[in-house]
Amino acid sequence: MNILLIYPNTQEHGDIPISLTILTAVLKKAHHIVHVFDCSLYTPETDLHSIKESFGMFKAAPQAPISPPPRHNLDNLAADLVNMIKDNNIHLVGITATSGTYPLGLQCSRYIKNKLPEIKVIFGGIHPTICPEEVIKEKSVDMICIGEGEDALVELCNAQDKNEPNQNIQNLWIKENENTIHRNPLRPFKDLDTLPTQDFSGFHEYDFYRPLDGKIYKMLNTEISRGCVFLCHYCSNAHLREVFTECGTYHRRKSPELAIKHLKTLTEKYDFDAIRFWDEDFTAFPASYLKKLSELYKKEIGLPFVVYAGTRTVTEEKIQYLKEMGCITLAMAIESGNYWIRKYILNRDITDEDIIQKYKIVKKSGIRVSAYNMIGLPFETRKMVFDTIALNRKVQASTSSVAAYQPYPKTRLANIAMEFGMLNKTPAYNSVRTDLNSPHMTTEEIEGLVRTFSLYTKLPRKFFPILEKCERDAEFAKKTFPKLITQIPEKLCQD
Ligand code: SF4
Repeated sequence: MNILLIYPNTQEHGDIPISLTILTAVLKKAHHIVHVFDCSLYTPETDLHSIKESFGMFKAAPQAPISPPPRHNLDNLAADLVNMIKDNNIHLVGITATSGTYPLGLQCSRYIKNKLPEIKVIFGGIHPTICPEEVIKEKSVDMICIGEGEDALVELCNAQDKNEPNQNIQNLWIKENENTIHRNPLRPFKDLDTLPTQDFSGFHEYDFYRPLDGKIYKMLNTEISRGCVFLCHYCSNAHLREVFTECGTYHRRKSPELAIKHLKTLTEKYDFDAIRFWDEDFTAFPASYLKKLSELYKKEIGLPFVVYAGTRTVTEEKIQYLKEMGCITLAMAIESGNYWIRKYILNRDITDEDIIQKYKIVKKSGIRVSAYNMIGLPFETRKMVFDTIALNRKVQASTSSVAAYQPYPKTRLANIAMEFGMLNKTPAYNSVRTDLNSPHMTTEEIEGLVRTFSLYTKLPRKFFPILEKCERDAEFAKKTFPKLITQIPEKLCQD
């Protein structure tokens, strides 16, 4: 059957979602025809990279060597979507949604149902998994998939193709009518070694190109594991663990042999020159696993790569394997420089000294390390934000980036924020602004701190009064940042 997968991305030139590339592969393997509708092409053009560059978060990089795909007017999205469904004789539409992309995904399903009510719409991804009741109650939604969709979606397409009943497919909630919803149980987790190689055919080649440390790479987005070993209070993983208690081991990985086989196939097919592993924490893998992976990777792949790793799992031995394997950048979250916030609000119990030590280990290996942070957290004061700035100045990462805290649904921290009256509307999930009503900082103050954070971590203290003005005055900041960036010293300030 013909199926359309929608990526309701709201950011221009978004990262290719791994989930859709795997779903494309499994559906094609089962002889279904897959089309992809990428909403990224309809988002208003912003030069996100230049904005981050002006915040001091990124180094300027050359343009991609190929032209971007033509952009479309947002006003035409509904008509284009409906035409695509008609032109390709689509029978089923699948929409993947995070909490941030769900509003646009929902708009898409409403457009479709309005013009083509006979087309079935299924939602999958993190948001329907976490908030199934909210999504299934929508009139324009026929089904949702809870958790992994590879087997469920193939079974659904096969059943629709053969006109067979589909009401008992595990992981799916299926709406028979307004009053009857079949809430099927979950199946065990998929053995990751049974997954096929990702299929990128629904995406434009331009989307592979990513800037990193002043260069542009044709980068493969991939992962070799699913889940996480930690339970941070601001992250959805803790709730997901509860949802999937009966499904098997939550943190799973591919065998090194299969991981390498997939990477080899993809790098040969698409001629990538770098890889970004999106695994939640690459150093959460056992050292013996990384050793084997490193040996095979060096021999069979040999491309530079980027990973996320955790301050709580980094060890000298693991970093040595990553270095030998060819890791060029490792991103490690600090999140907050205030121990009380880290331990009690974020559930990340690690001391400042240990964080500094972990950064030292990575830097000593020669791998470039970048630091991720969050501000605007419940109970966080301005002084605590400056603790985060101070810790970033101490670890001296190549880049220190920051996002405004987002209260994701069903996370422990969002529930606490609600209990304390700091959250009274559905957040818009925007990395620059937060919808939290903090008693300690205004939304504007948090926005100003997000704007200036990176420069606060890099510039000598004598520039702090100018940065304070940049916090309050966005126009002044825009004019002043290019000059300030030239003042970042070669040897970063540690005071
Ligand atoms: S380590 Fe990262 S992915 Fe894991 S629970 Fe914490 S925030 Fe989530």
